[in-house]
Amino acid sequence: MVTLFTHLFLLFLLTTAASPEYTRPGPRPLVLRQHSGSDSDPQQVHVSLSGKGYIRVSWITSDKNVQPTVQYGKTRGKYNLSATGEITSYHYLFYKSGQIHHVRIGPLDPGTTYYYRCGGSGPEFHFRTPPSAFPVEFAVAGDLGQTEWTVSTLSHIGARDYDVLLLPGDLSYADMDQPLWDSFGRLVEPYASTRPWMVTQGNHEVETLPVVYRNAFMAYNTRWLMPYRASKSTSNLYYSFEVAGAHIIMLGSYADFYIGSDQYRWLKADVASIDRRRTPWVFALLHAPWYNSNFAHRGEGEAMRVAMEEVLYKARVDAVFTGHVHAYERFTRVYNNKADVCGPVHVTIGDGGNREGLANSFENPRPSISVYREPSFGHARLRVFNSTHAHWSWHRNNDTGSFVADELWLESLAASKACKPIRVPSKSQNEEP
Ligand code: FE
Ligand code: MN
Repeated sequence: MVTLFTHLFLLFLLTTAASPEYTRPGPRPLVLRQHSGSDSDPQQVHVSLSGKGYIRVSWITSDKNVQPTVQYGKTRGKYNLSATGEITSYHYLFYKSGQIHHVRIGPLDPGTTYYYRCGGSGPEFHFRTPPSAFPVEFAVAGDLGQTEWTVSTLSHIGARDYDVLLLPGDLSYADMDQPLWDSFGRLVEPYASTRPWMVTQGNHEVETLPVVYRNAFMAYNTRWLMPYRASKSTSNLYYSFEVAGAHIIMLGSYADFYIGSDQYRWLKADVASIDRRRTPWVFALLHAPWYNSNFAHRGEGEAMRVAMEEVLYKARVDAVFTGHVHAYERFTRVYNNKADVCGPVHVTIGDGGNREGLANSFENPRPSISVYREPSFGHARLRVFNSTHAHWSWHRNNDTGSFVADELWLESLAASKACKPIRVPSKSQNEEP
């Protein structure tokens, strides 16, 4: 007995000495949220930006008779405005989705709370529109999933105010098990129904079924409809939007990206349309990182980097946020594998809390372009204060709260005399193969 206690005590000393700063708790189980209301009650409510001054409200009902109507107004319980949208649904093998409602509402005032009701009855929801000018705050979290880790990340996201959430792919980890898309929608509803959530796809959204469904992204595209048409994109898998003074490019790691592809040509046209006087900040999100010193998913973003990095570099994109690798890693400003003061800061933020766990091993020695790396769950904040300065912080999930483990002041490349955007003559666009 005494020996057992001695051993335990020694073990305690050893573990505390090995990681004095943070002991990572073990694996956490899946959390599957059930629907508690009636068939006509809205569930999985989420909102997204849908062109200047507009919000799209998306929700699901199992009752087929519920109309795709949103009633809304600026006062609790009073809905003096209303809009009607569309209903869609999809089949996936033996699974049939509920009625998926998408309703675009607006024009709305910036920085304003609106109260709304979906389908003419049921509970009241509310969201706040983003501000029209600085400061603006983004929450950034990738590879969310639906585990107790996710619950912890979401509670930290919700614990401090923000304007818009950015998600660089891997949402539900349904992986063809369609009811998991529904439980994910319910899990994020308290957050995604109150602030716009802007997402791009990860590999877990692909859900291709050989022979039966070559058409991938069925669930993702139907449920998480993003405002791609507003940025002249022809695909829900890549688009851009503007918030306050930021232009945000959402790229698709799992859509064609090669030179001459639709995505490539769209990206070139999109960056050519950026007016740095109106949007001094430009950020890009994509799933599979172009820079990664973790052993997980090595080289998976390389083909896309080779195809598209020059376009982002010449456009003077300020930062690129990625997911896929379930850890946190921040690089210095880089271009073509070298530190470059005019390149974007690359950050992997694939640590939302999915069921696959953390990517624990990094290559050693640490490459000089990798500034901070850590395999822990968490989320990030991007606070854009004005046209020249923004603050990035990474908030690791500790058991009871979150802890800022990495932070950085960013200076906009638009303000840098040495890094003026390199204009590409529009003629060359037509010459692409
Ligand atoms: Fe993932
Ligand atoms: Mn992934």
